[in-house]
Amino acid sequence: MIRDILKIGHPLLRDTAKPLPADMVPSDLVKKLISDLIETMRHAKGAGLAAPQIGELVRIFVVEVEDNPRYPYKPNIPLTVVINPVIEYLTKDRFDNYEGCLSVPDLRGVVSRCPHIRLRGMDPNGKPIDQEIRGLSAATFQHELDHLNGTLFVDRVTDTKTLCTIDAFGMWHEDDFRRKVRDIEQKYNPGESMK
Ligand code: ZN
Repeated sequence: MIRDILKIGHPLLRDTAKPLPADMVPSDLVKKLISDLIETMRHAKGAGLAAPQIGELVRIFVVEVEDNPRYPYKPNIPLTVVINPVIEYLTKDRFDNYEGCLSVPDLRGVVSRCPHIRLRGMDPNGKPIDQEIRGLSAATFQHELDHLNGTLFVDRVTDTKTLCTIDAFGMWHEDDFRRKVRDIEQKYNPGESMK
């Protein structure tokens, strides 16, 4: 079922989501919630969606990038569902990422993110997830984890002069950002083809 996506200002987006008890995975309730998250994310053409964005205060998010028109420069990410995610930074390096959010309509801004992380958690069948993510995609997972802690990307924008509409991003900032993305991908995912 396609659910309504809460927008900035809704108090539930500012709450801390609760861990999902392991004995609830897998359950019909959780399966339904996950399928709603996936359907709603795909319908809205998001790169990810966290449960609080549809008003459910549990620690689950989904991520998927497949030639996304909202973010044409993003490398693809296979559908990933993470329950009770934990992210560990594997480098002190940071990069400037232009972010947007389905809960913050028509706005982009620069956020500092770690380009090499370890993601742990549980998949929808209760199996452990433990993977390393490198490059621009690492930022997507950090963005979704923030949602579970009541944080929106605008909270992390240190230079508010970078804030812009999606049209303005395309007109004034996208070319420069694409060059930076290429550098990040070459450094952290060498050998992989770039769009
Ligand atoms: Zn978001």
